[in-house]
Amino acid sequence: MGVRFYLQGLIYKYRQNEMRRKVFGLEYEVRYRDQVGTWGEVEFKKQIIWLPMDCLDGPRDLTEWHELVHCIEFAYGWDLGEPMVDQLATAIHAILRDNEL
Ligand SMILES: [Zn+2]
Repeated sequence: MGVRFYLQGLIYKYRQNEMRRKVFGLEYEVRYRDQVGTWGEVEFKKQIIWLPMDCLDGPRDLTEWHELVHCIEFAYGWDLGEPMVDQLATAIHAILRDNEL
């Protein structure tokens, strides 16, 4: 077993404990997996947000916000499209970071 694989396992265990996100009454479980051609994904029926395991904190948070905006979009029945989802996620992420919220 390589060091990288071992560390990923530790990160995975750590992250497994922490991650549930509520979005307008729906509770999503956040899970991590190796990237498979995409950064993140939401399985709405199972209420799972998938994030890449092998990712730095900054990009990971931004990816999480991207998926959370998809959850908001789902809750309201909107169809924003990927560019708008990405812009909203980037804006929310920046406001939270710049104001230390
Ligand atoms: Zn998306």
